[in-house]
Amino acid sequence: MVRQAHSVYDYVIVGAGSAGCVLAARLSEDPAVRVLLLEAGGKDWHPFIHMPAGLAKLVRNRRINWDYYTEPEPALEQRRLWWPRGKVLGGSSSINAMCYVRGHPRDYDEWAALGCRGWSFAEVLPYFRKAERNARGADTFHGCEGPLSVEDLRYVNPLSQLAIEAAVAAGYPRNDDFNGATQEGFGLYQVTQREGRRASAARAYLGMARGRRNLEVLTRAFAERIEFASGRAVAVRYRHRGKTHRAEAAREILIAAGAINSPQLLMLSGIGPPDALRRLGIEVVSESPEVGANLQDHLDACILRRCTQRITYDRVNDLALALEYLFTRRGIGTSNIAEAGGFVRSALARDERPDLQFHFVPAMLDDHGRNRLPGDGFTMHVCVLRPESRGRIELRSADPGVPPLIRPHYLSDPEGRDLRVLVEGVRIARRILAQPSLKPFAGAEIFPGAEANDDASLIAFVRRKAETIYHPVGTCRMGSDAGAVTDPELRVRGVEGLRVVDASIMPRIVGGNTNAPVIMIAERAADLIRNRS
Ligand SMILES: Cc1cc2nc3c(=O)[nH]c(=O)nc-3n(C[C@H](O)[C@H](O)[C@H](O)COP(=O)(O)OP(=O)(O)OC[C@H]3O[C@@H](n4cnc5c(N)ncnc54)[C@H](O)[C@@H]3O)c2cc1C
Repeated sequence: MVRQAHSVYDYVIVGAGSAGCVLAARLSEDPAVRVLLLEAGGKDWHPFIHMPAGLAKLVRNRRINWDYYTEPEPALEQRRLWWPRGKVLGGSSSINAMCYVRGHPRDYDEWAALGCRGWSFAEVLPYFRKAERNARGADTFHGCEGPLSVEDLRYVNPLSQLAIEAAVAAGYPRNDDFNGATQEGFGLYQVTQREGRRASAARAYLGMARGRRNLEVLTRAFAERIEFASGRAVAVRYRHRGKTHRAEAAREILIAAGAINSPQLLMLSGIGPPDALRRLGIEVVSESPEVGANLQDHLDACILRRCTQRITYDRVNDLALALEYLFTRRGIGTSNIAEAGGFVRSALARDERPDLQFHFVPAMLDDHGRNRLPGDGFTMHVCVLRPESRGRIELRSADPGVPPLIRPHYLSDPEGRDLRVLVEGVRIARRILAQPSLKPFAGAEIFPGAEANDDASLIAFVRRKAETIYHPVGTCRMGSDAGAVTDPELRVRGVEGLRVVDASIMPRIVGGNTNAPVIMIAERAADLIRNRS
């Protein structure tokens, strides 16, 4: 039943994740507009969201996670890969690893060259700076007055420092700011934290907007469809507390449901590949064959070694950690676990941009931490930053409650470059972990295993073990060509009054973690919507 008693808002935003929280806060700065933010998940009360190291405990929590699985992946032994996504205020920024990375400046210049006017690095840098409150202070690259707090880690495991030393000994430069003049090299990640607490988009942006009477945030509100009148998006239908409701938007509807759910919602609403929609009995509002296409992600492999001394995070005293954190906001509780890392150009890199990223974890990480191995160890992640493979999100059903089909098609590029880059990354990671600085701690290699040395066995290892490092993007690609789902102002082509603002609009995945780029996208979108850009 549709309850018709409803309010009219100026803007209705679907999804309170990294992008949605920014939009809600920025648009409601104008007291004259009314904003509704709909979030399918609940409130972010869970203490493990806010204590950074709690992320290790969140992996199994299905209440705050969409808990998606891909379809069987042909190049990965037909495995279904686990794709966690935040389902809570803050979205994935409430469960992510907090690494603050923007990608390479040339990534954005490439967007502009692909037809995305206004998105070159020079044009997006002001929005990165506007968002940022960097504890190191402001400079050409960084801001220090924005809502999103960025800090140096308060606690760093000695192994993380030694891993950086090892990378330097292996011939890679030291880099203390991956978001500064150069991206290449190894160092500690800066993290989205405020005084040792997670700075999710909800904390940062909804926190700033708290108490505004013109912003309504509704949790456990699941958007099922956009309604149109004469080609204009006019309302969002959503489920809340067992009933169907309708929220009207006088100005615009903004979809910020993330790279999986945004294309799903567009297709459920009749915008997408026409034949696929008709097959499911969905009335076509606008033909847009690329909705759900262009899916890109960073495929990742983990090299695990045993540690001969008990200094990893595998067997920490949880009570001591929690008490220290509660009383001092210091210690292991403030660690984002993936403390150190770096960026490297493989032999196959096409230009000056690194095409491999590393995350070092002073603990054994198998199957996203869901498979707990006995003893102590450490892990070096390596992922392909500029994959050429493309996947797709498709509707499985016209029922909004049924998860869409996720087909990343990893390693499907015809020339097999993605696989070769990843295999080279595995070799580099191993070489780093074998350096003298880690010798006093390095025990036997668990994965890929000492016997895996030739290309064939490393390829087999990748196919057997590679996983996502959680950066799906690109499924509602922006561009100025007719095939693009949105135009460079993020307006959905073919209809009026509707934009997509989140990770799905990226035409190409950026070379780094994706939270800061999504926040930048939403900062810029807010200005576009307000005609300030
Ligand atoms: C485990 C993990 C670790 C990560 N680590 C890092 C990291 O260290 N650094 C980094 O930069 N990035 C990291 N990322 C990636 C980064 O967090 C995401 O790219 C980013 O948060 C995506 O933002 P978004 O706004 O596109 O989507 P999300 O933040 O996922 O937000 C989408 C929101 O929409 C809601 N929603 C979806 N459908 C509906 C609907 N129909 N109705 C109502 N609401 C809906 C969702 O519940 C969610 O809250 C990580 C991600 C994960 C999952």
